[in-house]
Amino acid sequence: MKFASTRDPGTRTDLSTALIAGLAGDGGLHVPSTLPRFTPADFAADDSIAGVAACLLQPFFEGDPLADELITICAEAFDFPAPLKPLPVGQTHLLELFHGPTAAFKDFGARFLAGCMQRLRTSVDAPLTILVATSGDTGAAVAAAFHGLANLRVVVLYPEGRVSPRQAHQLGCFGNNITALRVTGSFDDCQRLVKQALSDRELQADVALSSANSISLGRLLPQMAYYAHSALGHWRRTGAPLGFVIPTGNLGNALAAILARACGLPIGEIALATNANRVLAQFFAGANYAPMPSVATLANAMDVGAPSNFERLRWLYPDDHALRAAFAVHAIDDTTIRETIRNGLQGLGEIFCPHTACAVAALEKLRRGGATQDWAIVSTAHPAKFEQIVEPLVGRVVPPPKALADLLDRPAHAEPMASDYAALCTFLRQRE
Ligand SMILES: *Cc1c(COP(=O)(O)O)cnc(C)c1O
Repeated sequence: MKFASTRDPGTRTDLSTALIAGLAGDGGLHVPSTLPRFTPADFAADDSIAGVAACLLQPFFEGDPLADELITICAEAFDFPAPLKPLPVGQTHLLELFHGPTAAFKDFGARFLAGCMQRLRTSVDAPLTILVATSGDTGAAVAAAFHGLANLRVVVLYPEGRVSPRQAHQLGCFGNNITALRVTGSFDDCQRLVKQALSDRELQADVALSSANSISLGRLLPQMAYYAHSALGHWRRTGAPLGFVIPTGNLGNALAAILARACGLPIGEIALATNANRVLAQFFAGANYAPMPSVATLANAMDVGAPSNFERLRWLYPDDHALRAAFAVHAIDDTTIRETIRNGLQGLGEIFCPHTACAVAALEKLRRGGATQDWAIVSTAHPAKFEQIVEPLVGRVVPPPKALADLLDRPAHAEPMASDYAALCTFLRQRE
């Protein structure tokens, strides 16, 4: 399949080119030129996530040099589970996406992208440096996924003092081909430095650069797999479609569910849960789309004032009325996040991370409004990643899962970096 740009539906780019480039040439986002249609019968019963992923992604990879490797890439990337756990309150499940190396859903996309890039970089190419700005989870997932891969390096920029101590530790604990830069500045400063570098041709004549942010097709496409896998399993067991309530910031995770539904998977309603950043809530309530500066919340991985994937939503639903009719958006404030974590789900003792808590609170609103169908709350991170918020609320220690505990046991180091573009360029050139 070829890929178009959200800004020019007539362009045609190969998958591999799109994966390496990140953005489309005209500054838009890459989107599939057509959407394949599936029925549940197209998937083997009881297949693993890796098996479902390979089947689902095959049409997107058709004709690309990576097509022959797709099954192996899926098997390597999806080597940890995404269980759909029934909760003892009616018709409600938890889709746990935190069983990967850094205990957040971004491990799926980052590992898949790394598998693709590793195969696209041959040993004769100059090393490729992946530049990432992170407010926490993205950088760790990308660092873990690319750690130790030949001919690929990762430079992660994070705002010093503004990520949690555990997040900072995860960013600095890899070493080898991964460098963490602790920037004196905000996340927006980090992102500005990365964007400037990625559009600087002079710099890129000396240093081969690429990105791995949530607009990358190599992260978006594989995220469809866990929605397909859980919805197919639920469909086979019950004959009913499964709805998803998805914690949302840049719309990367949610868009994967939306695409999977558009490809015919048995997915019911999709509800987006945001934090107090209200840009999507206001648009879905009927206002014009108006990006705004982000505000800091307890669910910091969703502190987004201009969701980068919004262009893809508009591509899928060119008519604003149809777009607003396709989803519900619920904005959840910090007070409600705290209450939700403190209460668990109706006192069941389930512990949620602050992002997942937004989805829980959104579902509670939906249920109060009379929604009786089957829903899955999408659990985007393990609560132990945000222990400073969660532990005081639940009144006990939340032990990290083993993979995360192993990372926390390693020594960590980050280089200091001024929020200054010239300093970043000097650093990148010196590493060549
Ligand atoms: C990144 C992240 C989100 C938001 O995902 P988007 O794809 O940006 O919408 C939600 N929860 C956690 C834990 C995250 O790391």
